[in-house]
Amino acid sequence: MNFSFSPEQEQLRETVRRFAEAELKPLVSAADDDEIFPRELFRRWAELGLLGVRYPEEDGGAGFDKVSDCIVREELSRINQAFASSWSAHTHLGIWPIWKAGTAEQRERFFRPALRGEKIAAFGLSEPDGGSDIRALKTRAEKVSGGWRLTGSKMYITNAPIADFILVAARTRPELTPDAVSLFIVQQPNPGFSIHRMKKEGIRGSDTGLIHIDEAFVPDDCLLGGREGTYPVILESLSENRVGVAANCLGMARGAYEAALAYARERKVRGRPIGDYQAIAHRLADMAAEIEAVRWLVYYGAWRVDQGDIDAATAAKVKLMASEAAVRISESAIRVHGGAGIMREFPVGRIHRDALVYVIGEGTVEIQRNIIARSLGFKP
Ligand SMILES: Cc1cc2nc3c(=O)[nH]c(=O)nc-3n(C[C@H](O)[C@H](O)[C@H](O)COP(=O)(O)OP(=O)(O)OC[C@H]3O[C@@H](n4cnc5c(N)ncnc54)[C@H](O)[C@@H]3O)c2cc1C
Repeated sequence: MNFSFSPEQEQLRETVRRFAEAELKPLVSAADDDEIFPRELFRRWAELGLLGVRYPEEDGGAGFDKVSDCIVREELSRINQAFASSWSAHTHLGIWPIWKAGTAEQRERFFRPALRGEKIAAFGLSEPDGGSDIRALKTRAEKVSGGWRLTGSKMYITNAPIADFILVAARTRPELTPDAVSLFIVQQPNPGFSIHRMKKEGIRGSDTGLIHIDEAFVPDDCLLGGREGTYPVILESLSENRVGVAANCLGMARGAYEAALAYARERKVRGRPIGDYQAIAHRLADMAAEIEAVRWLVYYGAWRVDQGDIDAATAAKVKLMASEAAVRISESAIRVHGGAGIMREFPVGRIHRDALVYVIGEGTVEIQRNIIARSLGFKP
């Protein structure tokens, strides 16, 4: 493996860094305070042609690889994880399965407009009784003339309150088998869907919804791929996205570390910058070392994805290490700031709240450990 980025990747990093500094930074605090997703930023992001970073150009994407996708995520999350979360739910969770398994017509109707920023996507898998345990999925789809009737509920769904369509996982048969779970592309508004905005402690500038689904009619042509049994696509999509989410965590860790470094240089106590005190200097040294370790783990994982050679356990290891590092590093950054770390005018408290989402979302760290343990032959 070549441990350097290509000139195109460095250029991409610079473009995203500039976008994040100029467009995302000025809005990040207000979006967090007011719990508002700045929708117009999606349109600006689409204008840069980066809504679909790693989809092939012939399909309407920017044609980059997974390493480049991770560069983009790292730079966005360094400044504004809430925006990065909404984008990730849109560009990966909500549309990757359509790109992978959708019919030509579904790609044209949903995937391509989503890449142009004309439609916002969401992905509804988690339910009140089943987040970690996909087998507990209760939402059911019943075959009726011309389509399906969906009944159930979905919880913690990113982008749901603002989505133009939601990819909904539902059981088309009662058995607990992979071919009993299918995905439906549900256009919004749908009279059978009621969506309630959820108030949060992390990524507050990203919209999250609780969805009640009451006999919602979905036409036949909105069954993903025109066939039942797309559960393996869900698993593949989640596994794929774990390395991407790890890159988001790397970005948050960097954002917190850079803020702590600047503060340690500037803040004087007893006439000396606090960074000159060994306790603070060692804390910063630990943060720098952990970021370096996570950076190369994330890009190694991305490279494995690009080789078509990522297994579930490797993806789980990358997500586990990066998400826990982001929580540790952002907490450390708060401590370096002293009382200022608790104040809203400094970014580190927000970054810590945002980082906590990622030891939970997209598969908790306990579930990642279970995946790794299974690869070692255990049955957790
Ligand atoms: C901000 C946010 C956005 C989200 N966005 C989306 C989205 O867009 N779409 C979507 O479908 N979901 C989304 N989620 C849901 C997320 O994926 C779930 O919260 C997550 O999978 C955990 O499920 P749960 O909350 O039901 O926790 P539970 O499954 O109830 O787990 C509770 C605790 O028990 C532990 N636990 C559970 N089972 C095991 C086990 N077998 N072994 C060891 N420990 C276990 C968990 O690790 C956790 O610590 C989002 C969540 C958040 C917080």
